[in-house]
Amino acid sequence: MPTAPPTLAGLTHLHSGKVRDLYALPSGDLLMVASDRISAFDVVLDTTIPDKGEILTRMSLWWFDQLADLVPHHVLSTDVPDEVRGRAVVCRRLDMFPVECVARGYLTGSGLLDYRADGEVCGIALPPGLDDGSRLDPPIFTPATKADLGEHDENVSFAAVENAVGAARAAQLREVTLAVYARAEGLARERGIILADTKLELGVERDHPDGPDGAPLVLADEVLTPDSSRFWPAEDLRPGRPQPSFDKQVVRNWLLSPDSGWDRASGQAPPPLPEDVVALTRARYVEAYERLTGDTFVPTDRSRSL
Ligand code: ATP
Ligand code: MG
Repeated sequence: MPTAPPTLAGLTHLHSGKVRDLYALPSGDLLMVASDRISAFDVVLDTTIPDKGEILTRMSLWWFDQLADLVPHHVLSTDVPDEVRGRAVVCRRLDMFPVECVARGYLTGSGLLDYRADGEVCGIALPPGLDDGSRLDPPIFTPATKADLGEHDENVSFAAVENAVGAARAAQLREVTLAVYARAEGLARERGIILADTKLELGVERDHPDGPDGAPLVLADEVLTPDSSRFWPAEDLRPGRPQPSFDKQVVRNWLLSPDSGWDRASGQAPPPLPEDVVALTRARYVEAYERLTGDTFVPTDRSRSL
């Protein structure tokens, strides 16, 4: 890992994923810290993208606000230790459903691969003749299982979700995921961004008075960031080819180009990213944030408080 999880006084480090570090707070709540790490092809790269953690944290907070009337979220506060200010949140520790809740309004990525194999995505039959970037109307719920570190998530049928969490919860997960997608897709569209698809993680409060089966769903993790979603500039949408996007596409393209000298099939770690690729990637994240929120991104000055 290019950045080790920071040591934070009095907090117990619980888990580090590819991008985020989780800590237990004495209150029983969680501190979720977004690092500047970036992954591509399910591998964490050696190079970091300056301010990425902060940009994604702010974007996620903005979305939680936009969605608050649809579904409650897990964030309790942004009052966090100085060294992670701006890129961490205090959140309620939930019991998470073991499902990646994905909504797709456009066909691409693993959805496109599945469709090309048998005309279906997660058991949902789609009309013939669709291409990379085709709109799916209505949008579809295409759940996936959460893979362990280094593994790829696997698309599963709705019946598999029912098996895992029960029919009633499965129906709720689908309903909330599609409602969030519809709201977010509309907001993004007004701002010149196509939200092609998105992945949500939901949970329920532990010890809720209504019990584990009755507790309301809570939206967790990060939401509607370029790491969890595909954002495409609306002005460039042209189905029939991969769409340009506001995420790590610059990184993926460079890694796959002869310039990188990397052979994906070799199983070797990808090489460090050149400075211009880092700068361009950072600029894409900033642009997505600014287009969506209408805010100018100014990084938090942590030097004064350290
Ligand atoms: P990766 O995303 O790299 O495949 P990961 O999902 O294990 O791996 P991160 O996304 O970096 O790692 O870390 C976030 C982790 O915290 C996820 O496992 C997510 O399910 C979990 N999580 C998010 N919000 C909450 C919450 N409120 N309560 C409990 N766990 C949460
Ligand atoms: Mg994750």
